[in-house]
Amino acid sequence: MSFANLNLHPSLLDNIESKGYKSPTPIQVQTIPEVMEGRDLLGIARTGSGKTASFVLPILNILVNRKSGERNRQPRILVLLPTRELAVQVADVFKELSFNFPQPVKTLAVYGGVSINPQMKAIFGVDILVATPGRLLDLKRSNAVDLSRVNILVLDEADKMLNLGFQEEMKEIFKLLPKKRQNLLFSATLNDQLEGLKNVVLQDPIVIEI
Ligand code: AMP
Repeated sequence: MSFANLNLHPSLLDNIESKGYKSPTPIQVQTIPEVMEGRDLLGIARTGSGKTASFVLPILNILVNRKSGERNRQPRILVLLPTRELAVQVADVFKELSFNFPQPVKTLAVYGGVSINPQMKAIFGVDILVATPGRLLDLKRSNAVDLSRVNILVLDEADKMLNLGFQEEMKEIFKLLPKKRQNLLFSATLNDQLEGLKNVVLQDPIVIEI
């Protein structure tokens, strides 16, 4: 299997080559077509499996094929994750893989522990928002962000978000999102708490376990 077989846009194939990825990892082979089809998905995979690109690539493929004029001033893609480090890392992968797109894609990471003001200013016109739950709610309370246009939600390292006690924040965030949306849930482990989250968030998901 090669990336060229996955029906990805030429701009994405160029960026994949620049990053030095030669062929898709097993989770990428399984996940990319399902996300491009619009399915909800549960991915049980550890860091190191290539799970980040397994959601970044199909999401960017959806955005790059968007008709001109469909650009929005509010995020279409929301990625929730547990830590600042992961937020920066995942946002960087979105940025690198969307380099030189015919229509630019704007990605922003927002997280706590730093001043909120620069994030409030930077959020305008963002397509992809990568956020830790607490800071996202602070930004919402400050009216800096409107989540009503989000059509893809990603929960990355969901087990860690639950372990860190973000359950209530996550529930509050879900209430701010449109009901009709695509949901992708990634976790290294599957336990009862995660099953609960899965049942709340995912509709008829495909389950991919690596
Ligand atoms: P992740 O599991 O998403 O944390 O990715 C682990 C590492 O694998 C990162 O350094 C990625 O840049 C790298 N990576 C992801 N996909 C591929 C691929 N298809 N080929 C080679 N390296 C990859």
